[in-house]
Amino acid sequence: MPQFIDTAKIWIRSGKGGDGKVSFHREKYIASGGPDGGDGGRGGSIVFQVDDNLSTLMDFRYKKKYTAPAGEPGGSRRCTGKDGKDLVIRVPRGTILRDAQTGQVIKDLSDKEPFVAARGGRGGWGNVHFATPTRQAPRFAKPGLPGQELEVRLELKLLADVGLVGFPNVGKSTLLSMASAARPKIANYHFTTLVPNLGVVSIGEGESFVMADIPGIIEGASEGAGLGHAFLRHIDRCRLLLHIVDAAGSEGRDPIDDLEKINSELGQYSIDLEKRPQIVVANKIDLLGDNREPLDAIQKWADDHGFAYAEMSAATNKGVRELMNQTWHALEKLPPVIVYEQEFVLDEAAKPVTEADIEYSRSNEYYIVSGPWIERLFASINFDDYESRQYLDRRLRAAGVFDKLEEMGIKDGDPVIIDEMEFEYEH
Ligand code: GDP
Ligand code: MG
Repeated sequence: MPQFIDTAKIWIRSGKGGDGKVSFHREKYIASGGPDGGDGGRGGSIVFQVDDNLSTLMDFRYKKKYTAPAGEPGGSRRCTGKDGKDLVIRVPRGTILRDAQTGQVIKDLSDKEPFVAARGGRGGWGNVHFATPTRQAPRFAKPGLPGQELEVRLELKLLADVGLVGFPNVGKSTLLSMASAARPKIANYHFTTLVPNLGVVSIGEGESFVMADIPGIIEGASEGAGLGHAFLRHIDRCRLLLHIVDAAGSEGRDPIDDLEKINSELGQYSIDLEKRPQIVVANKIDLLGDNREPLDAIQKWADDHGFAYAEMSAATNKGVRELMNQTWHALEKLPPVIVYEQEFVLDEAAKPVTEADIEYSRSNEYYIVSGPWIERLFASINFDDYESRQYLDRRLRAAGVFDKLEEMGIKDGDPVIIDEMEFEYEH
């Protein structure tokens, strides 16, 4: 029997940047050339990507460590090292990524945008960058920056507008198969639905919603299969519930008793879920003949609880289209599906740095600016790119670096060393 895995804990680690190279241009008959050591490549990032072909977190059951490769070191003759390849981890839509330690949300993976959870370390600079008028033969290059490492918890919370709830065998899967292209297993025995099935119900041009048939609430719980409440997580963010009941009581059960039981299960999971808007759907009316008695009782129960009401025969498709239209109109008045906000940012948490960390000093004619904030800023700059250098200039100016240096007595043309790089000061 396939097992439905909807939580997992894994380690992710992005690749270290490749080291910069120290080398000098050599040509036959030329004594010594200038520095030509290339930059290291960027380390691979860990990227999460939603894949709609997946419906469980099964893949994470055995593989627990995900490491992206390091960038390659720089080479001679200005050769840049190859970047490490990003490691793309595919997850079902609606997977929530949390920091395992704090439980804070890193990302609700509910759209198709790839999400970089751990960024590859930037490659170090080769010594080719360090040639300045005052330093013609730089014998150093920069090491690649380390990757990021984190333990994350994955939790699947399906993303559907509508959730089907009800006892086993009341016709939930039948409804889903009638109303959408989804083909869930339908059978006259319990345990049929062990993985959630999602179906897209289209109403008209550009009008559609997603409906989820989840593993039953009572199915597993009552049979001791260890299912039960865990599955309610998957309807936790549904905007509307269709509460299906077997109006004919064809398994010898009382429909009203069924409605009460399911509702109390919902309430035990959360008050929120108990109060979620519902359409109470009396199914299997084909079996009732002219007997409206059970239908009247179900409708009264719905009214008493402030829920909407509908009747159908899913098996013969009677009332299904009407119910889907009713569902669509109800959804139009309801707020959108809940998407969780980001609470945790890896970079910030790893090393909180502020502009207050900037250090200033002097050594001979040099003005030296250093500190973690500066290092972080420099690591993000691409010095081959004009825009990027302009950005650096603005950030330094805004952080008060220029004011401070002038306070220290710097003049245009004086040498400044920032993050191991030498510049000429120019206001
Ligand atoms: P689920 O467990 O709620 O998903 O129920 P299923 O959709 O698997 O249906 C259980 C059984 O009820 C199947 O044998 C269906 O063919 C049958 N069934 C579903 N809807 C109807 C209906 O409207 N009328 C009748 N007579 N049988 C139905
Ligand atoms: Mg089913």
